[in-house]
Amino acid sequence: MKFATKAIHAGQHPDPTTGAVMTPIYQTSTYWQKSPGEHKGYEYSRGTNPTRKALEDCIAALENGKYGLAFSSGMAATDTVLRLLKPGDEVITGNDLYGGSYRIFTKVFEKFGIRFHFLDLSKPSIIKEHSNANTKLVWVETPTNPTMQIIDIEAVAKEAKAAGALLVVDNTFASPYLQNPLDLGADIVMHSVTKYIGGHSDVVMGALITNEETLYKELFFYYNAVGGTPGPQDSFLVLRGIKTLHLRMKAHCENGRQVAAYLKKHPRIEKIYWPGFEDHPNHEVAKKQMRDFGGMISIVLKDASLQDTFEVASRFKVFSLAESLGGVESLLNHPATMTHGSIPKEVREKVGVVDNLLRLSVGVEDIEDLLEDLEQALG
Ligand SMILES: *Cc1c(COP(=O)(O)O)cnc(C)c1O
Repeated sequence: MKFATKAIHAGQHPDPTTGAVMTPIYQTSTYWQKSPGEHKGYEYSRGTNPTRKALEDCIAALENGKYGLAFSSGMAATDTVLRLLKPGDEVITGNDLYGGSYRIFTKVFEKFGIRFHFLDLSKPSIIKEHSNANTKLVWVETPTNPTMQIIDIEAVAKEAKAAGALLVVDNTFASPYLQNPLDLGADIVMHSVTKYIGGHSDVVMGALITNEETLYKELFFYYNAVGGTPGPQDSFLVLRGIKTLHLRMKAHCENGRQVAAYLKKHPRIEKIYWPGFEDHPNHEVAKKQMRDFGGMISIVLKDASLQDTFEVASRFKVFSLAESLGGVESLLNHPATMTHGSIPKEVREKVGVVDNLLRLSVGVEDIEDLLEDLEQALG
């Protein structure tokens, strides 16, 4: 099956009791057993629930994976991956990461004796220089957030394999429509489903996808043992949202292309980050591993103080100033104080997350209205 067909059908079958075409919301915590241990595959909803299972199978199919697990947030999914590690283990990761990933690495897992190396993974050979017998995991985000670096997944997968480490790719920014890391050698794909997969800014959820059975079993153990699993209502909402993922992504990419072209020529813009530009440093890698370039764009305002940047951010009328991304509505974010507020100033400025940087999540509204809003806000 191809992408659109999978988005609409994968994991979903007419309900065996009523024939309902849409997967029902199985709002139940527990399941009847005929005699102890004799049941229909469901025992308790922390571990398995039919609505969630339909969603997990659908997300796995979109990533060309065999196994999917859904979590109550992207961070709960990340937490589950990190639980595969033990004290003394080392992780190699990027230097431009989602703020919450940086926080869980440094504030939660370092405490348990796990070491993290934050490196420029746009040079994959750097993995060799920093790996040793304790290196167990390589964690990659691409495109990176918010400076839109593109990391070569295939090259990083080779380096990770040579180092004897698992490769995890946070595929949130690309979505499964634009990029499928398992096909490029990743062991696990992680998603903040909250973003493009959910697509309507009404659910917080995460997911992990893998093709390796033993890895799946291990991840499933922590998923059930720790219990950061989502309920059936949210699973249903995401199943509904996912049916239009391909349509939404096409529109995000088209609007993104037009917004990027408009901003590149704008006199108030000092710098623009979007992988679709031919002069983007990793444009060739983006062309190789992504189907299109997406609707995430970051801009640095020319000669703007923090105060000037706040003023511009507050003038938008169609774009909403809010955290998050990937919904049908356009959003605007000030990473230095919002999504990346938990990263120390020296650390974030080194990778370009300066006070006058704004990140746009271009939605699927009419392009004329988006360009007009940018025009009036930039003044
Ligand atoms: C939002 C986000 C996360 C965290 O996901 P939540 O659903 O908010 O817990 C992780 N990685 C990236 C790239 C994100 O954008």
